[in-house]
Order: sequence, then C-alpha cells, then structure tokens
Amino acid sequence: MSYQEVIAKIPEDVTLVAVSKTKPIEEIIEIYQQGQRIFGENKVQELREKYEQLPKDIEWHLIGHLQTNKVKYIAPFVSLIHAVDSLKLLKEIDKQAKKHNRVIDCLLQFHIAREETKFGLDQKEAVELLEHPTFSRLNNIHIRGIMGMASFTKDETQIRKEFQTLISIFDFLKTNYFPDQSSFDTRSMGMSGDFKIAIEEGSNMVRVGSLIFGSRNYN
Ligand SMILES: *Cc1c(COP(=O)(O)O)cnc(C)c1O
Repeated sequence: MSYQEVIAKIPEDVTLVAVSKTKPIEEIIEIYQQGQRIFGENKVQELREKYEQLPKDIEWHLIGHLQTNKVKYIAPFVSLIHAVDSLKLLKEIDKQAKKHNRVIDCLLQFHIAREETKFGLDQKEAVELLEHPTFSRLNNIHIRGIMGMASFTKDETQIRKEFQTLISIFDFLKTNYFPDQSSFDTRSMGMSGDFKIAIEEGSNMVRVGSLIFGSRNYN
C-alpha cells in the first residue's frame, strides 16, 4: 500500500505515527516529502541517528521499550515516549527532561496481549505508579495517555477484546486520575495489521510501519 492509500484510510482526528524502524534515511525523506511529520522508532540509537540526519520539523516518537540508562540520548528532542511501564523509568525521564528545560510527553504502556514476552503494566500497577508519592513530584514529565499492542493473531474477536480492555483502562485512569486534564487524551493502539479495528474500538493514534514502508528485513 502507498502512503497516500494509508492516510486515506485514517480519519482526520486520528494521528498517524509512521514507523520507520530499520528503514534508510532516503525512504523516510520520501514519506516526509509527501507531508508526514511524525515518525516512530523503537531503538534509541537509531532514533538518535535519524534525528540528527533528518529535517528538524519532524516529531520523533520512541515506540519501543526504553532502558533507563538510554533516556539521556533522546531527552533533548524526543516528542513522545510511548512505552513507559515503570516509575523508575519515569523518574529518569523527568530527570533528563529537567536538564534540558523540557517537559516530555509520555504514554503508559499496558500489557493487553496474550503473549508473555510483551512489556507493559496492568491496571493495578498503573494505579500504584500514579498513587506513589514520587509521581506527584515529577514536574518534567506529562502523561498524555496510554499505549498497547494486541496479540499477533488472525482472531479478530480476540484483537477487539484486547483493544476494548485498553480503552476501559484509559477511561478508568481518565476518570480517576486525570479528570480535569484535557491533555490526557491519547490512545495509541493499532499497527499495520490491526489499525482499522483499533480505530473502530477508539484509537486516536496508530503506529503504522510495514504498510507504508514495506516489510522489514532484520539481518
Ligand atoms: C514495529 C512496531 C509498530 C509497527 O508495526 P507494523 O506492523 O510494521 O505496522 C508499531 N508499534 C510498535 C511498538 C512497533 O514496535
């Protein structure tokens, strides 16, 4: 599918993150020239290298797991960190953001899939994080919403169920922890294989890679 065909399928109120991981600079430029300004990467070093080489009006999202010791490499420029799943990580993001006089937007990642290997919180762990005394002292991070990945399966009923779980967690957190914050508004769910279902279930941010850039070649 071409970039134009993908954006034609995404409603205007849904943000498209073009996932450019493993793809070379030239291919990213091609999509950039068609108007795309938000790109997502899952590795810190690759994100940093691409940030340095590409136009500075790109908003870079880190969508993959982030190790505490690597936060410093992206803190100067990253515009959204999708996969926050511990207070320890949040504290480090806050600390590095402060050094650069920034407030860094973050999403809490939830584990909704059947696969055991995926990172992410459950609702109870999120509550513990949000009620921790330390959390209220973090002034240089801003929780904008939630992120999750459904199981890799063809079972559409299962995928829908997992997205519904994620939306119910979003609603719970919004009501109980962010009632007066219109900026707690982001529901990052849906990838190439399931973004249409995700949007039907309430996503307003989709992370689409292979459908735009073609399949990836991990050597
Ligand atoms: C790679 C990746 C995507 C995009 O996957 P595609 O199937 O290529 O669209 C989305 N989200 C995360 C967290 C990823 O790592």
